[in-house]
Amino acid sequence: MTLLLTEADVAACLDMRSLIPLMRDTLARFSRGACRQPVRTAIHVRPAEGFYGVMPAHIQDDDGPGALGLKSVSFYPGNDRAGLPTHLATILYLDAATGALLAMMDGRLITEMRTAAVSAVSVDLLARPDARTLALLGSGVQAGSHLEAIGLVRDLAHVRVWSRQPDHALRFVHRAGQRLACPISAVTSVADAVRGADIVVTVTSATEPILGAALLEPGMHLAVVGSSHPRMRELDSDAVARCRVFVDSRDAARVEAGDLVIPVHEGRFGWDHVVAELGEVAAGGAGRASDRDITLFKSLGLAVEDVASARLVYERATARGAGTDWS
Ligand code: NDP
Repeated sequence: MTLLLTEADVAACLDMRSLIPLMRDTLARFSRGACRQPVRTAIHVRPAEGFYGVMPAHIQDDDGPGALGLKSVSFYPGNDRAGLPTHLATILYLDAATGALLAMMDGRLITEMRTAAVSAVSVDLLARPDARTLALLGSGVQAGSHLEAIGLVRDLAHVRVWSRQPDHALRFVHRAGQRLACPISAVTSVADAVRGADIVVTVTSATEPILGAALLEPGMHLAVVGSSHPRMRELDSDAVARCRVFVDSRDAARVEAGDLVIPVHEGRFGWDHVVAELGEVAAGGAGRASDRDITLFKSLGLAVEDVASARLVYERATARGAGTDWS
């Protein structure tokens, strides 16, 4: 039987509290070589100015065939004008023992949630234990999921939100404020958001830097989530040079992370500026070295995160009888 799982089915089978430890474990497996995953294949789609990528992965288990799947993902920045999500995705989840298709499921929500769960792992492992003030740069889909996920790993006392379009920050704050225990405010400059923040999350589709070194303060943790293109970035070279840098995948960073590729090409630093993969930290490797370090996690998004999430959704869906038989 092949299951068809809509976004509503996925939503009923997935929760952030379960995803955070799952992503931590998956990244540790990835970094110790227990996964097979090429760097994303992506094409630029003209004239719509979209990007389309395919992301296969196999997660090996200590016993059993493991988890096998593929995400098809598109990023069309202009979709917001048509009232559509800018990121859309579908995941094929396969039987790793036979290659048979077990499920086709919505991948949009999985992308939204697993990305924030991974950033929360970075906060948990790299932010100061007493970090309580969060700055969100961006107010789209990822801003919402990051607010939820980071609130599960740190006791937030205040959240400040900046967005390119100030009314979008206000709209976000209005919506989020209704279900948040701590104060949340919209601000009109990046500087006002970042000043005094312990955790800074960049979740924008910016192509040029929005955050410079002058705004960084000792002890901050940055989760840099936008841009997965070598010519797009959210931070300037000086900012990245000041930070103790961690990535989800070294291989992917060399190909996709404009925040790192550009300063390396400028000769600002070499690839040894990357301290470790997050999965190495999750497995007990060195992370933050002092309370005054500025730590930076550059997230690109890995197929193993999608496949691990898809396995959880599939297992819960089959246990609960959710979804539609599509065979
Ligand atoms: P949305 O389309 O929902 O939101 C986009 C956000 O980016 C909005 O807040 C928008 O601000 C802002 N923005 C757009 N263009 C610019 C610009 N030129 N300068 C500054 N801000 C800009 O996207 P998502 O929230 O889904 O994704 C946010 C980013 O995260 C994207 O770059 C996306 O590719 C990336 N991403 C990364 C993943 C990962 O695993 N690392 C996974 C999924 C997404 P406003 O509304 O005010 O215009």
